Amino acid sequence: MQTLIEALRKSAVLVVNRFYEELARLPKSRRILEMLSAEELAHLKDRQIQNLLALADPGLSSKEHAAMAMRIGRIHAVVGLDKEELVRSRGILQELLYKLIGRDVGGQALSLYARRLTSDTAWQLKAYQAVEDSQQDVLQRITRIVWEAGSYTHFIDQLVSVLGGHDEVTACTIGRPDEAGIFHFEAGAGGSGEGGLVAVLTAHGHEISVRADHPDGQGAVGRAWRSGHAERVVNYQTDPLVERWRDVAAREGLRSSVAIPIAAPGHAPIAIVMLFSAYPGGFVGPDQVAFIELLQTLLSCVASRLQTHDGLHGGAVPVSVRQHWAALVRTGALEMHYQPLLTLANGQVSKVEALARLRDGERLLTPDEFLFALSSDDLLALFARGLGQALDDRARWLAAGHDLEISVNLPPAALNDLRYFDAAREALETHACPSRRLTLEVLENESISLSHGQRAILGKFRALGVLLAQDDLGSGHSGLARLRELPFDWIKIDREIAHIAGDAALDALRVVYQITRLGHSLGKLVLAEGVDSADLLKALALLGVDGAQGYEIARPMPADELLGWIGGAARVSVAPVGESVLTRLARFVVWEERAFILATLPEAARGLLDSDDAAARTALADALISFGDILPAGAERDALQRDMLHAVVKGGRHSEAWQAALARLMRAISAAPLAA
Ligand code: C2E
Ligand code: CA
Ligand code: CA
Repeated sequence: MQTLIEALRKSAVLVVNRFYEELARLPKSRRILEMLSAEELAHLKDRQIQNLLALADPGLSSKEHAAMAMRIGRIHAVVGLDKEELVRSRGILQELLYKLIGRDVGGQALSLYARRLTSDTAWQLKAYQAVEDSQQDVLQRITRIVWEAGSYTHFIDQLVSVLGGHDEVTACTIGRPDEAGIFHFEAGAGGSGEGGLVAVLTAHGHEISVRADHPDGQGAVGRAWRSGHAERVVNYQTDPLVERWRDVAAREGLRSSVAIPIAAPGHAPIAIVMLFSAYPGGFVGPDQVAFIELLQTLLSCVASRLQTHDGLHGGAVPVSVRQHWAALVRTGALEMHYQPLLTLANGQVSKVEALARLRDGERLLTPDEFLFALSSDDLLALFARGLGQALDDRARWLAAGHDLEISVNLPPAALNDLRYFDAAREALETHACPSRRLTLEVLENESISLSHGQRAILGKFRALGVLLAQDDLGSGHSGLARLRELPFDWIKIDREIAHIAGDAALDALRVVYQITRLGHSLGKLVLAEGVDSADLLKALALLGVDGAQGYEIARPMPADELLGWIGGAARVSVAPVGESVLTRLARFVVWEERAFILATLPEAARGLLDSDDAAARTALADALISFGDILPAGAERDALQRDMLHAVVKGGRHSEAWQAALARLMRAISAAPLAA
């Protein structure tokens, strides 16, 4: 062995230089070598020499050998050295050794050395397998979080933690550009120092732009944002396009990267994921290309899902701002405001919805500004603290003689996370609040139907005795199945649906009416949100809607203003407005529904319409379905009532006669003078 070591000491440089000349003839290996700077190549050769000497060390235990070979194999896998070429290159190395030092070394030592070289290769291949397994594992975990993604912020936090833990990835960041095209990091994993890579990149002001005409727009992020494809930096030290980030990359030990757009098929990206490797040439080997492609496909699924979520119209929020908001949630900066919910049947307010606000210096932030930027833990803190505050306020109101119910928003994540349930139970206990006094509002914007686990958690809330409300019905895509299956006490119709404008008013009222009927037939109460006019409020009452919430009744207000507001009872009752176009349309919607039902009984209906006795005819028609206040009394109203009834009974709702009569009625409703 000693002669072998001496021979190696003498000739290793030659062996290694020749070896790299040969390697440069293998197509895939050449590509990797070409990516290296002169220094990097020299460093690599040096390492190779050390390695050859170490293999000749008689004291090398097989355990040490395995560890060393696995380490090198992992690097080879991560830089994307092709597996077949690895095996071939080991053959070349062995040949060179025989040729260049074989004559000076005894056969026994040489064959021992050859055996070590062979097992070295085997260990390296094992390391390849480990990297591949890690890739599989990462893809599986990402599939799961893509599938369960509730909010953008939560998703990217999970994504960086999975990707950051992957073998091939030293650091990972995610972000989006603002309106000026400046890229902001929103989440990150890995990197040196406190706050990790994101803090470094932000603090040093290494601005990144996504604009082609911007000097900072030529990096992988900018190119990926514009092309919609994965874009790579194979070596920060040699790639002229990324010269301006060369120093920070070197300091942080980042040698190469890939920027992967998160984009729904055929759509512009919504965000960019950046993976960094500690080695040059990261992410260009065939396995890695396949891995990145799969990853991008998975991310495209999440893009389609998240695009419909609130989180994405807000633009990027830098990590520092998110952290600031997260801190505000956990301090006295959280202020719950309360918006009265009106019971339409009696014009009373016995319940308020608690809505979160964050005091940030002079500004009072609303949920639209901060909610989507909160992580899942921040949301839990918001829920627990918000609920605590609301129950405190409730206790004060109770002491002043007002026993108000409280409605609190439950984020979608609460159905996957028992901590919310625990927080609710604890808060009720601590505040000695009867559970029926608390309603939890669950957003609709989750996936099509609830999983077994989510149902179970809803069941626990129910068993606790709190009321449940389906929030924002009509804003998401859950559909009617969810309405039927889930144990909600209340349905809150989203304000987009109740939002009544111009020509669409008739249809909007029809939808509200049908949802109300459906809700009632399922044993649920129905509330309309976003009620911002007295006419609409009255129309909703006519449609039989149970509750209303909106600026017309009151805006959300601080706790200490609420009692004063409730004291001013005049403002609470449904304002006694006169007739309006909306109230007439609402009456018509109810009448129309009854007329349709009548039309399903053709025999009875015809008998009624064709009776010889005019007085009986009118009396019967009015008893069944009064055309009443749809229009002011008069000949036109009577004629329209008759024509519409005939049209629907004889021809049905799709007949031309019905459509023509309907058009006449609409004109008459808009033209009729309104009572003062
Ligand atoms: P939401 O649950 O649908 O709450 C009603 C929102 O509509 C409130 O906005 C309220 O101010 C607004 N609003 C009420 N009446 C009207 C109206 O007549 N016209 C219009 N245009 N808007 C009206 P806010 O307080 O900004 O809350 C927005 C959303 O943020 C809420 O929608 C809810 O989903 C969420 N949110 C609010 N507080 C919390 C909270 O403590 N925790 C969680 N997880 N989410 C919350
Ligand atoms: Ca709500
Ligand atoms: Ca709502």
